Amino acid sequence: MTTRPRRDPHAERARTVLGPSGRKRRLPPGPVRPRKDPHAPRAHAMPGPSGRLRLDPHGGELVHLHGIAPAPAAAAEQPLVVSAPSCLVLAVLDLPGGRLEPADLGLLAAARDLADRLDGAVLALTLHGRHDLARQGVDRHAALELDPAWNPDAATAAISAVIERLAPRHVLFTDHPLLGADRARRLAVASGLAAAFAVHRLDESGLRARGGGIDLVGPLAPILTLHDILLADRPDATLREARPVQVDLPPAPAGGIEDLGEIPVDLTGAPLSEADLVVSAGDGVRDWLCFHDLARQLNGTVGGSRQVCDRGLLPRDRQVGASGTLVAPKAYLAFGISGAPQHLQGIEHCQRVVAVNTDLHAKMIERADLAIVADAQAVMPALAALLRERRHG
Ligand SMILES: Cc1cc2nc3c(=O)[nH]c(=O)nc-3n(C[C@H](O)[C@H](O)[C@H](O)COP(=O)(O)OP(=O)(O)OC[C@H]3O[C@@H](n4cnc5c(N)ncnc54)[C@H](O)[C@@H]3O)c2cc1C
Repeated sequence: MTTRPRRDPHAERARTVLGPSGRKRRLPPGPVRPRKDPHAPRAHAMPGPSGRLRLDPHGGELVHLHGIAPAPAAAAEQPLVVSAPSCLVLAVLDLPGGRLEPADLGLLAAARDLADRLDGAVLALTLHGRHDLARQGVDRHAALELDPAWNPDAATAAISAVIERLAPRHVLFTDHPLLGADRARRLAVASGLAAAFAVHRLDESGLRARGGGIDLVGPLAPILTLHDILLADRPDATLREARPVQVDLPPAPAGGIEDLGEIPVDLTGAPLSEADLVVSAGDGVRDWLCFHDLARQLNGTVGGSRQVCDRGLLPRDRQVGASGTLVAPKAYLAFGISGAPQHLQGIEHCQRVVAVNTDLHAKMIERADLAIVADAQAVMPALAALLRERRHG
C-alpha cells in the first residue's frame, strides 16, 4: 500500500507573501513563472504586407533573438503614366473664381472616358495658374498665366497656341455660357474647326447634341461643349502623371473687349439652368410677398414646384423638375416642397440643398443637407430680416 506524502503546513506559510493591496497571497508551489507583460505584443507590433499593424505575440523576442527584420514600409504610390498615347484629348477648364468646380471635374471625367476609348491621354488646360490635377484623371497639364481679367480674345489666342503646339484630336469645354461655351464658339470661328454644342451623348463612334428642340446626331467633332448631363461623373482617384507641358504664349491681342468689372444685376428672373442660387417655393408657401422679398434679398433665382406653376402662382418657366428645368446651382433653398420624385430629379446636381418643411418625414427633408422643420411663413421673414440687418449694419 502506498502513502501520499504529507503536506508541510509550515512550508506553505513560508510561501505566503503580502500583495500590493496589503492582503496575503499564497504563491503556487514549485518554481515561480515570470508574469507575461500584456502590453508587449502591442509595443512590438510591426506593419504587415497590407500596411496593417500585426501584433507580435512573442513580445519582440523573435525579432531580437532571430534577427528577423521588420517588414519594410509600404512603397510610395507610383503614378500611372501614359507614355505613348495615340492622341490627346484636351479639356479646357472653366475654374470660375479660380476654383475647381463640379463642372470642371465632370469635364475631366468625360475627357478621361473619351481618352480611354481612343487609347489616348488627357491634357488639361488651366488659363490662370497651376492646379493639383494628379488625382483628377489628368496625364498632361498645360498651366498658363493669363491676366485674370475677363478677356475672351486673349483666352482664344492662348487655346489656339496650345492646339498648334500639341495638336489634340478633340478639345472639350463645359457648356457654361460665359466660359466654356463662349470660348468654344470663339475658337471654332478663329480656327475654322468643326464644333458641336451641348453634346449630351458621346463615345468614340459619334455624338448626340441638343439643338433647337431636336437632337443632332453626328461624328465626333474636334471642338465639343458638353451638356450638364455629361458632366455628372467624377474622375476616379487614381494617381496619374499630370506631367507639366510648357506652351509659349503669343502676345496678348490688342484692343477687343475690355473688362470693366462686375456690376450687380437682378437675378431673380434669370434662366434657372444658369442660376447659382435658386430660391424655390412649393405648395407649403402661402405668403408670396414674403417669398419674393426673400428671393430679392438673397438675389437668388426664383423657382417652384409644378404644383405652384399649375395653380398660376409662378410662371411655367419657373418650374423645377423632370418636366421643367434641371437645375445645378451651388445652393437650392426649398420652401414647402414635398420632394416628389419628378422634383428631386430636377435638383439632382445641386451642390447644397436647404429644405424648410413642417413635415419631418418629407422626401425633401431627407434629400437636404440642411433641414429646418418649421413653418415656411415663419422662416422666410426671419431670414429676410436677418439679411437686412446684416446689410444695414
Ligand atoms: C408626369 C409628371 C411630371 C411631373 N413633373 C414635375 C416637375 O417637373 N416638377 C415638380 O415639382 N413636380 C412635378 N410633378 C408633380 C409632382 O409629382 C408633385 O405633385 C409636385 O412636385 C408637388 O408639389 P409640392 O411639393 O409643391 O406640393 P405638395 O406635394 O402638396 O407638398 C407641399 C409640401 O409643403 C409642406 N408644407 C405644408 N405647409 C407648410 C408650411 N406652412 N411650411 C412649410 N412646409 C409646409 C408639406 O409638408 C408638403 O411637404 C410631375 C408629376 C407628373 C405625374
